[in-house]
Amino acid sequence: MFDYCIVGAGFAGAVLAERIAKVLNRQVLLIEKRSHIGGNCFDYRDSHGIIVHKYGPHLFHTDYKEVFDYLSNFTDWSLYQHKVLAYVDGKKVPIPFNFHSMDLLFPQEVSLNLQKQLLKYFEYGSKVPILELKKREEKELHFLADFIYKKIFLYYTMKQWGKKPEDIDPEVTARVPVLVGKDDRYFYDRYQAVPAEGYTKIFERMLDDSRIKIMLNTNFQDVMQIDISARKIYLFNQEFQGKVIFTGPIDELFNYCFGYLPYRSLRFSLRTERKEYMQEVATVNYPNDYDYTRITEFKHIHPVDSPMTTYMYEYPESYEFGKIPYYPLFTPEAKGMYDKYAEMAKGFENLLLVGRLAEYRYYDMDDVIKRALDIFEEEIR
Ligand code: FAD
Ligand code: UDP
Repeated sequence: MFDYCIVGAGFAGAVLAERIAKVLNRQVLLIEKRSHIGGNCFDYRDSHGIIVHKYGPHLFHTDYKEVFDYLSNFTDWSLYQHKVLAYVDGKKVPIPFNFHSMDLLFPQEVSLNLQKQLLKYFEYGSKVPILELKKREEKELHFLADFIYKKIFLYYTMKQWGKKPEDIDPEVTARVPVLVGKDDRYFYDRYQAVPAEGYTKIFERMLDDSRIKIMLNTNFQDVMQIDISARKIYLFNQEFQGKVIFTGPIDELFNYCFGYLPYRSLRFSLRTERKEYMQEVATVNYPNDYDYTRITEFKHIHPVDSPMTTYMYEYPESYEFGKIPYYPLFTPEAKGMYDKYAEMAKGFENLLLVGRLAEYRYYDMDDVIKRALDIFEEEIR
């Protein structure tokens, strides 16, 4: 009855369901264990009309024109450039750390000298990962790198990952470089915007197709079994002849046969108060204080005329069974374990793995959408 069975209704699953139904005119079963579509991008309007991102702040940014064009089929956009401040030494300074941050934290002469030193070695506009800057031996740059490392990265990363910056994949801290310049934006991509009516509406429009049947509140294990030795997949107790696209955690798919992959989880806490705004920008990071990493105030992202404001605290947590695995926790051992699962998946002719959890990658939304579109073109179409 179904040509494709897709597990997970986040962007990976939804893009592929939409493409397969619309372009190939095939029947798709989309299985989702949560009570809603949208995966971690799910949002809703609270009782004050404020759009809240249930699983943490989601800001769309991309350099892929193809991804922006594709999503534009399902939404209008509100132009929005994300700004983040970090609370350091009693001041709120722009992140990524840049010349303005230096001006706020150092005496004018010191700041100007540090900027001059940076410009001796890096072009204006360069984005330098903190772990790279830390390798510099020149006295001033050494001082600056040490300051930024300690005040911005060390304790935030310890909270977020339970590890020091040098003990996780360097690409993670490189996501937030030191900027040799004065650009206060959090992202530098060509396309930056938020969906005018929120992300959930995009998913509703993508999946509103009679060829897509959605089963919510359904763990794939309730309807699907995988026979590892025979390399077969069963759906509703019958061998499934179609293709399975899996976007959930890969270790769960294979019943943890090579062990449990490590993840980090989060706890979100929401507050609403009668105030027009409670902070200066959408997100304020707290690298050195409190148990939470950041507070996001949603009205800055989706402006709305309301006397109330709603904001979210993010508390990093260790991942245990039953929690949501928000972030793959990259270690060499974890990568080794992932490779074994990925190798096992290759043995199944009718199985494709797509998405942040199935591929165990720190994908942003645009990476996942690009990946799903590429897989559709190269491996499905
Ligand atoms: P998901 O959205 O996680 O979807 C996977 C789906 O599979 C989920 O709905 C899950 O319930 C379902 N599933 C899992 N297991 C099972 C099972 N056993 N049975 C059935 N269904 C199952 N990206 C950006 O571009 N910008 C941002 O600002 C941004 N902010 C983020 C903030 C946070 C706190 C987090 C955690 C992520 C953020 N991201 C951001 C990344 C973004 O969330 C991901 O790139 C995107 O959601 C990945 O889509 P996906 O489909 O791969 O995974
Ligand atoms: N980071 C940090 N201090 C900050 C912001 C980021 O140490 O003020 C580090 C931290 O390790 C974090 C990583 O940079 O996990 C990536 O940050 P990003 O904002 O991209 O994380 P995400 O939004 O994906 O949680």
